[in-house]
Amino acid sequence: MEILELLALAVGLAIGGAAVLLLVAVAGRRAIPERLEINGVRILKDSFVTVCLLPLDGGDVALFDAGADRNAKAVLAELGRMGLGRENVKTIFLTHGHRDHIAGARQFPNAQVMALAGEVDVAEGRTSPGGPFMVVMPVKPSGLKVHRALEDGEAVELGSVKVRVFAVPGHTPGSAAYLVNGVLILGDAADAAKDGRVRSAPWLFTASRAENRASLRRLAERLSGEGSVQAMVFGHSAALPEGIEPLAAAAREW
Ligand SMILES: [Zn+2]
Repeated sequence: MEILELLALAVGLAIGGAAVLLLVAVAGRRAIPERLEINGVRILKDSFVTVCLLPLDGGDVALFDAGADRNAKAVLAELGRMGLGRENVKTIFLTHGHRDHIAGARQFPNAQVMALAGEVDVAEGRTSPGGPFMVVMPVKPSGLKVHRALEDGEAVELGSVKVRVFAVPGHTPGSAAYLVNGVLILGDAADAAKDGRVRSAPWLFTASRAENRASLRRLAERLSGEGSVQAMVFGHSAALPEGIEPLAAAAREW
């Protein structure tokens, strides 16, 4: 076999292997519905990710993540149905800085972008988020500016609404979960499988699976006794409306 043929075979095998790994990592997720509302939190499907939209007092809107679509079509359509526009989005909370969750942010120039302090460099594109797949991706500026760095345990007040902030490092170094109106928004820290079980972050895209699971275990312990969680929302799968228990049950087995 010629050297070029050997090279082509090696490249082909590598691409095929990567595709199989990708499928294994993301298979079996509970599919995201087009639109779902829980306690005033509107969960939108933006291709393969979710974006949460929360109407606030005075026509202001907060987003949790900004989606994979650079044009933010799903979010702009929902704003249109509410008689609002992009200028009404005043806050964007990032669960983490992976590009498929921040791409739409450029469509909302009035928004103050918030992320955990440990995620600012990832979100702005100054450092790799880590993980087997992401370490081969180039590190380059995302064009996004984080205006406010958040800390674990703090609460951000937006009029009459309070957003609690929790650090859940592991998927990325500064991954965050947010609790608002009884809805726990977990980003990619966890996933819902088709059978309704909670899974930890997909290893292929995750900096430290052990740290991710430890973070989720700690979060479940922290929130189980409160009765404060009515539903959980995930970055790539459908929401679960059964409180914190599916996460606590999964964490007991890890
Ligand atoms: Zn991610």
